[in-house]
Amino acid sequence: MNSPVHQRAGIYVHIPFCERLCPYCDFAVSIKVDIPHREYTRAVLDELQSRRDEMQHYRVATIYFGGGTPSLLEPAMLGRILERIEQWFDLVDRPEVTMEANPNQVTDENLRRWTDIGIGRLSIGCQSFQDRHLEALRRNHSGDQAFDAVQRALEVMDRVSMDLMFAGPSQPMEEWGADLELMQRMVREQGLDHVSGYNLTIEPGTAFWIRRKRGTVVTPDHDTAAAMLERLVEATDEVGLRRYEVSNFAVDGAESEHNSSYWRGRPYLGVGAGAHSLQVGVGGRAQRRKNPRRYDDYIEAGGEPEEVERLDPADHLAERLFLGARSRRGVDIDEIQQLFGSSLGDVVDEVRPVLDDLVDRGWMRLDDGVVYRPTNRGLDFSDSLAQWLFEAVDEVVST
Ligand code: SF4
Repeated sequence: MNSPVHQRAGIYVHIPFCERLCPYCDFAVSIKVDIPHREYTRAVLDELQSRRDEMQHYRVATIYFGGGTPSLLEPAMLGRILERIEQWFDLVDRPEVTMEANPNQVTDENLRRWTDIGIGRLSIGCQSFQDRHLEALRRNHSGDQAFDAVQRALEVMDRVSMDLMFAGPSQPMEEWGADLELMQRMVREQGLDHVSGYNLTIEPGTAFWIRRKRGTVVTPDHDTAAAMLERLVEATDEVGLRRYEVSNFAVDGAESEHNSSYWRGRPYLGVGAGAHSLQVGVGGRAQRRKNPRRYDDYIEAGGEPEEVERLDPADHLAERLFLGARSRRGVDIDEIQQLFGSSLGDVVDEVRPVLDDLVDRGWMRLDDGVVYRPTNRGLDFSDSLAQWLFEAVDEVVST
């Protein structure tokens, strides 16, 4: 599939191993003491090599190691993957190379090795600096370790982000406020320029789901969670971090290009267990590919996907509108027309009144006559916004 719109694309590499299972985790993970570093790296390299052609029309602008816990993979293996990506794909100058890391692996030695192999951006899963909250989340690090990890990384890495989590089990507002104060200190005193703040979501089938049903896990009610989000938005704003997506805050210019490209609907190649890929073609045709979730199934499959889903243009359009509405970059009608014009130009025209209505309600604003951007209120209610946009496209297409 060739694309007339996007020239830049991303590569996502999933490293599924974790030391233990967090009770809220719904990701493709494998709990391992003995990580098969070489065997897994070999499988990832084989997949990358066999799928080189999928990226022949694109320049790779971002590479992202996500997990699981990618910082558990030996740096030498991460380095081999990066070397091969450089060799096999057409990269832009200075691509953004990010790795997610657990605080207890952010040592001086690891930081040196990660920077040596070309990782330029670290996303540290702190979640909190309060030991009580970390224990409630069953994280395997302390608050001090999380704090130290960010300090050390800021001294060495070009770019650092940290994740925080709110509305955790029995979390009072004061505890969340203490996390936000430390975050502000790091922005003011150490130059931290990117923060992701997530509302704990409890997915069916997770340990927390079962415990919440039994009443042994109690999370803050809806109003308290909303107040915690409001405090996050205020606290980041006070130190100059702009909310550029529902859960992401950055100094201008420090946004994650990789994550932004998902919200822009850019194509990406996802390799590794459970990884997804998106290919975008002419007329808005798109294809999503999913790899087997279990790492041993992935290795056994030898690069074959578990599922390939063709998105029809209407579904793809609804998804693009929804993703655009989650980020400050918004929905650019000219860009959407260019991508879907040959197949869905009329639909785009008919959906515009729905976007205009969202502007009237204060959920979006219209810039330059063509770009619909969510307001803070729109970002707070992004799920409802998404639902409206899906229904609008569905109604237009089915009439
Ligand atoms: S560290 Fe992250 S990926 Fe691993 S189990 Fe915990 S939440 Fe899941």
